[in-house]
Amino acid sequence: MLRVGLTGGIGSGKSTVARRLVDRGAVLVDSDALAREVVAPGTDGLAEIATAFGDGVLTADGELDRPALASVVFGDADARARLNAIVHPLVRRRSDALIAQAPADAIVVQDIPLLVEGGMGPMFPLVVVVHTDAEERVRRLVGQRGMPEADARSRIAAQADDDARRAAADVWLDNSGAPEALDGAVDALWDGRLVEFESRLRRRDPVRTATVVLADPDPAWPADAARLAARISAAAGGREVAHIGSTAVPGLPAEDVIDLQLAVGSLDEAAGFRDALADVGFPRCPDVDHDDPKPPGPVRPEQCHGTADPGRRVHLHIRETGSPGWRYALLFRDWLRADPASREEYLVLQRRAQAESGGEAERYVGIEAPWFDGASDRAEGWAVSSGWTPSLG
Ligand code: ADP
Repeated sequence: MLRVGLTGGIGSGKSTVARRLVDRGAVLVDSDALAREVVAPGTDGLAEIATAFGDGVLTADGELDRPALASVVFGDADARARLNAIVHPLVRRRSDALIAQAPADAIVVQDIPLLVEGGMGPMFPLVVVVHTDAEERVRRLVGQRGMPEADARSRIAAQADDDARRAAADVWLDNSGAPEALDGAVDALWDGRLVEFESRLRRRDPVRTATVVLADPDPAWPADAARLAARISAAAGGREVAHIGSTAVPGLPAEDVIDLQLAVGSLDEAAGFRDALADVGFPRCPDVDHDDPKPPGPVRPEQCHGTADPGRRVHLHIRETGSPGWRYALLFRDWLRADPASREEYLVLQRRAQAESGGEAERYVGIEAPWFDGASDRAEGWAVSSGWTPSLG
């Protein structure tokens, strides 16, 4: 099973995307619909609301009087918090029940309008954001849904902005164009990513590649790393995750892989959240329990995880805080960030390794290896002279 968090601003096209995903076979859990269901007449939810806010929030027919309730909670943060404390757990329970009923190989899409506002991104293996420019959303809400323009604008203003949504997005679906273009993008997402992601996640089978391709530096790498790190940290009880490796060095061409380092007290402790990491998209690489030592030397134990997502390569290294491997990853990154000449030398080496190995990973690593001997001494020298200490960075 793969759980996908689907979000976007009001009028962006979430429901349209959700419908298309359901057509392709997804199981939809619609949090707006559940929020209505849990306060329908006769429910415990509605009884709790009447107890908390009085019978004035009920209509003569015993239904929830939404405008009356809205006027009670409007501008009253405490009242809103009390309302949320009633409704949110009920919605969560219903969502969990629906997800539990879904087939083991389902792609479950959870449509959550306030996913970003609620900081829920890290709970999902994948977050899909539907984006439409705010002015176009106003036009659609007014023209197609008959919403008064002032309402549309005030609702948009009350929600997260585009930057916050972009930071949470693994997939950014631009719905500024024609509906057919959106359908095409959703189909490509389903066929090219979600189906394989679900299958790999269920089988705990990380994506593997045997070739190395150097890519131009991508300004999105740090934001990708931050999003993935938050997801990993949430699955690992809030432990620290650092962005390491070449994609953590600004301006450096690199293999398009986000390397992350999760720091643990002991590798035994890491075994305790192996499943939680796999559930959120990062299954263990069963045949790798140490890094290729760079510089060559004693094997440095670690627990390696990859990703089940064919759309974003990730290497997750779990290492003990204070261990040589943990320290070296942070040092090497910080040294390359600080020293342009070494960075250039490293890049020249990478280009040579790429050309001579034809991108074949084992040969590539073999060509690189001797350089690391001297580089590690120089990095250590730099650490002493600059007073470097390890930090997340
Ligand atoms: P949301 O669920 O994010 O609030 P909807 O999917 O309901 O948004 O879309 C808002 C409105 O815009 C709907 O009336 C929908 O039919 C319409 N719509 C969605 N995508 C497009 C598009 N690409 N072009 C024109 N109208 C669209």
